Amino acid sequence: MAAEPARPEPADPSVRPAPSGRPDPPGPPRPATPPGLTRRRLVRGAVAAAASGGLAAALDACAGEAAPPEPAAPVLRPDGGPATPARAPVRPGTPPAPAPLPPGLPPEIVHGPRDRLLVALTFHGQGDPALAGALLAEAERAGARVTVLAVGTWLDAYPRMAHRVLDGGHELGNHTQHHADVSAMGADAVHAEIAACADRLRRLTGSPGRWFRPSRARHATPLVLRQARRAGYAHCLSYDLDPLDHTDPGPEAVAHAVLSAVRGGSVVSLHLGHPGTVAALPAVLDGLHRRGLRAVTTTEMLTP
Ligand SMILES: [Zn+2]
Repeated sequence: MAAEPARPEPADPSVRPAPSGRPDPPGPPRPATPPGLTRRRLVRGAVAAAASGGLAAALDACAGEAAPPEPAAPVLRPDGGPATPARAPVRPGTPPAPAPLPPGLPPEIVHGPRDRLLVALTFHGQGDPALAGALLAEAERAGARVTVLAVGTWLDAYPRMAHRVLDGGHELGNHTQHHADVSAMGADAVHAEIAACADRLRRLTGSPGRWFRPSRARHATPLVLRQARRAGYAHCLSYDLDPLDHTDPGPEAVAHAVLSAVRGGSVVSLHLGHPGTVAALPAVLDGLHRRGLRAVTTTEMLTP
């Protein structure tokens, strides 16, 4: 579980323009599979809909991309709230207290216990909300729970997604406000990036979430670790398995990359907003099941 030294990731060759924004889908979260529609058809439909809508997959690699993606530019009110009319009911409520973590966890979590059959599928939280909803629904049909590290501008553009994640039993965390290269920023700028996203999470859900994952870096630098702690995050969440799904290698390649390397305690880096990742998820979850592994939230994986 020891943190490795931070190192820059290779540049992402698949740089593409950021997607144009899409309005939040109206109404409540999508229901489970409608009658007469198989889960695979539903996922294929969501993927096809995204493709035919001309939405390029989000340029949103967690590590190494050349430029941060720009989501739909929401018009912020002076108080920083979402554009009017508000497109999502804000339900601060009282979130359940998170389970206590075991003592002795390092400041940077790279993987969980190797002697338990639990893995954490962790997602860069950004991109087309229809694809995100399809992915979450697919996970829920298989009884899997995931961890979504949300980018603050994504929450501004699609505030409904915060509760959509939590309502599915998943975990929601912080992935900075703008997904900039935090490793290259000064202390106060890093803190502002983390704190701004934390504010969005708190406003939308009542909690800033437990986990912070640095943007565009696999590992947190000492400066980033300090600023995360200053912003209230005792642990940064890295990962030990990167199937490079953000390069869109195809669903089979994503599933193979995960299943050929996954083991108990793996923290897998994945990305919302990529049709190939949505299409790969059924095979990934089937493969985990065959190996006796269960996809749970990061907190569940780390909690005895
Ligand atoms: Zn990311």
